[in-house]
Amino acid sequence: MIRLENVCKNFGDLQVLKNVNLEVKEGEKLVIIGPSGSGKSTTVRCMNFLEEPTSGQVYIDGQKLTHANKTKIIRESISMVFQQFNLYPHMTVLKNLTIAPMKLHHKSKKEAEDLAYHYLDVVGLRDKAHVYPTTLSGGQQQRIAIARAIVNEPRVLLLDEPLGALDLKLRQEMQYELIRLKNELGITFLYVTHDQEEALTMSDKVVVMNQGYIQQMGTPEEIYNEPENAFVADFIGDSNIIDGVMMEDRVVKICDHIFPCIDEGFGRKKPVDVVIRPEDIMIGKPGCGIMDGIVTSNVFIGVHYEMCIEAGGF
Ligand code: ADP
Ligand code: MG
Repeated sequence: MIRLENVCKNFGDLQVLKNVNLEVKEGEKLVIIGPSGSGKSTTVRCMNFLEEPTSGQVYIDGQKLTHANKTKIIRESISMVFQQFNLYPHMTVLKNLTIAPMKLHHKSKKEAEDLAYHYLDVVGLRDKAHVYPTTLSGGQQQRIAIARAIVNEPRVLLLDEPLGALDLKLRQEMQYELIRLKNELGITFLYVTHDQEEALTMSDKVVVMNQGYIQQMGTPEEIYNEPENAFVADFIGDSNIIDGVMMEDRVVKICDHIFPCIDEGFGRKKPVDVVIRPEDIMIGKPGCGIMDGIVTSNVFIGVHYEMCIEAGGF
């Protein structure tokens, strides 16, 4: 549905996107994750030409976006929700929802209002049709912002950190709601976040960005279990990243101890970064495991304990 081909974007001397290639398929839930300033918003803004790429192409449904055709193509297919709700404060909720369908999509007032009520039902806020946005809570305002985006019945919804301003509990609730909405409407979802848990739960496919580059693309399981480099390993989930030596296929040496692993193709006796997820470490009595260590802290997190252990001469 959307394809970025070799997209670069500069702001003055600053290279913000460096040769980004990315495809969003129909019906997909794609999440872009990366630290602040990594180019996530710029990538999404290039998709609907809020920013024009410095070089490279953007295709929507196979049609190349140009200055001349962008308004028509984007209006027909894409809606966007931002972190700041951007609701018009001087208009009622209903007016906020009907203005684009009437002005941009030439619906009659009646058609636009029917649509607005329908999507207010979908987000559970029909009874707020006649109030002003400022009288609503943050979560309600964001629901209205989402309703306003889907009232245009777009084929793709771009959500740029839409829940970033909400507190944790509400954010989790809204995550479930957004997934329900996506499944109900059958639309394509492109979701930007800097929150790793959100990225894993909201996606079929995750794109990890850093410094204007795509670092890795894959299913949440692939990204978590098989990070391609130390940045991805460190950014997604907790990990211990340790120097090691790949002795041969499926055998790695860490701190003078030999461990089995699943990796192949590094050759013999090659230095590597070894990523160990905390949940993959088994702890037993001294002398019973492969390495001994000293517990230096033990913190109760709720579902589990988080333990620091010094081992292997670190
Ligand atoms: P993210 O969404 O991942 O936090 P952005 O895409 O917003 O990152 O920004 C990437 C980089 O581009 C940042 O360094 C930011 O300061 C810069 N940037 C973004 N928009 C502009 C702009 N309009 N003018 C100048 N620099 C910009
Ligand atoms: Mg951003």
